[in-house]
Amino acid sequence: MFALPELPYAYDALEPVMSDRTLHFHHDKHHAAYVKTTNELLQKAGASPRSLESVILEASKSGDKKLFNNAAQAWNHSFFWESMSARREQPTGELAAAIDSAFGGVSGLKKAFVEEGAGHFGSGWVWLTLEHGGGLELRSTHDADDTLMHEDMTPLLVCDLWEHAYYLDHQNDRKAFLSAWFDALPNWRFAAAQHAAAQGRGRLWRHPDPVTAESEKLVSAG
Ligand code: FE
Repeated sequence: MFALPELPYAYDALEPVMSDRTLHFHHDKHHAAYVKTTNELLQKAGASPRSLESVILEASKSGDKKLFNNAAQAWNHSFFWESMSARREQPTGELAAAIDSAFGGVSGLKKAFVEEGAGHFGSGWVWLTLEHGGGLELRSTHDADDTLMHEDMTPLLVCDLWEHAYYLDHQNDRKAFLSAWFDALPNWRFAAAQHAAAQGRGRLWRHPDPVTAESEKLVSAG
């Protein structure tokens, strides 16, 4: 059974770009539903997977669309929460240098990010990636598609392009949402850690492991 990870900040920490109300719906309803359905499908199949990553890869291989969509959305949302912070920082060090060389600086990255996200048709995700054997790039994926299925890159940050991510706060103006998001919310420390890990320094982010009956007992025993 996978647990719904808690947000790494308070529900109102990302205001005004992302309101308390949006985060309650987005995390407590949308994300929770993906986790719940993933668990139900695994239970029905009698599966006890080691990790959410293995569920996604196997569901993709076996063509189990429903399981893939729910498990990948659970993963993407957990990664998305980590991709944001309330600190309003700028990228520094090696990551800043990589942004300079790929986009000519943070403002160039912002322009490309807003263009990519606003131009993406329908639901999905916009990712800042490190291309293996290359530099930084922006990519968008459709619906539940995630970066685990793309072995030629490592994700550094993601922003949710589904309407539920911005409709309450920005209505239909995805472009305004992306612009405000980029100025205030990217977790550059997280992106820098992913960037270093992709080059063998440190560990890449992984989804929290499933909660087993045994670890549940340990937790409740305190
Ligand atoms: Fe979402």
